[in-house]
Amino acid sequence: MKLLVTGGAGYIGSVVAARLLEAGHEVVVLDDCSTGHADAVPSGAALVRATLRAAAGDVLAEGFDGVLHFAAKSLVGESVEKPGLYWDKNLGESLALLDAMRVHRVPRIVFSSTAATYGEPERTPIVETDPTRPTNPYGASKLAIDTVLAEYARMYGIGGVSLRYFNVAGAYGTYGERHTVETHIIPNVLKVPLGERESVSIFGTDYATADGTCVRDYIHVVDLATAHLLALEACAPGEHEIFNLGSGAGYSVREVIDVCREVTGEPIPAVEGPRRPGDPAVLIASSAKITERLGWKPERDLRSMVADAWAFIRS
Ligand code: UDP
Repeated sequence: MKLLVTGGAGYIGSVVAARLLEAGHEVVVLDDCSTGHADAVPSGAALVRATLRAAAGDVLAEGFDGVLHFAAKSLVGESVEKPGLYWDKNLGESLALLDAMRVHRVPRIVFSSTAATYGEPERTPIVETDPTRPTNPYGASKLAIDTVLAEYARMYGIGGVSLRYFNVAGAYGTYGERHTVETHIIPNVLKVPLGERESVSIFGTDYATADGTCVRDYIHVVDLATAHLLALEACAPGEHEIFNLGSGAGYSVREVIDVCREVTGEPIPAVEGPRRPGDPAVLIASSAKITERLGWKPERDLRSMVADAWAFIRS
């Protein structure tokens, strides 16, 4: 298929673009490189360096079989400080993209949604039909895009799949996480053995979990990429489907740090600090729907995520 990957200069977009090329697809990346890196775009893909609003129409006019839409602002804290920016970049630019798809009759889209659409869960594991009550503008803007996708599917016959990611980690060879502002736990822990930090902070030790720290569901970026390829094949005209993507297993912050110690062989001092505002105690996905419908299963464990991330950041 001829595919447009928005945000293909970013962490997840670049890994998926690489896997799409390996599967024999033709890939064009559309990315303004505001947070991504031009050198992260796989060499077999063409890069159009522009915003969706500026360029989606012209690019899609060439004729495409599908879009994988990763381009977004994705920092929860920043979204609370600048909600307008998140509504504009996430929802506004997505509307421009969807409208260009409608005009140029692009039949399918796979969208990067997020566990943040659910907010504080009433129960775990979270299933797709659970209430969506995002607690920040980032999650709210992503949920709004899911809603618009459902509308565009119904009104214009586009086939859409929203994949709601839980905690993505790991790397794929030379493709990995390179955020200027790094908030995620695994890259932050690995900064200690890398010599960039003295210690890692544990945000809260008084949660109602077995060891008092938050529990999250980690998924390897390569397993995540596999789900995108399956979702692309599964897009059905006029339908919008939502699938959670996690491993169904939870690891506490302390357990993640322990795995990082094992993998790197370094002591990695940890300093216990206060909670980070807005962090739910436990977030675990039920991935039963995507397993049943698309035959997807995670194949890589937390140790492999940390080992691949560690190899990536040292290279
Ligand atoms: N966390 C931490 N120290 C850090 C970064 C994150 O204790 O330096 C915790 C954070 O409070 C959360 C978990 O690790 O409970 C996962 O955070 P991350 O930002 O990686 O992902 P999130 O679940 O917020 O999307």
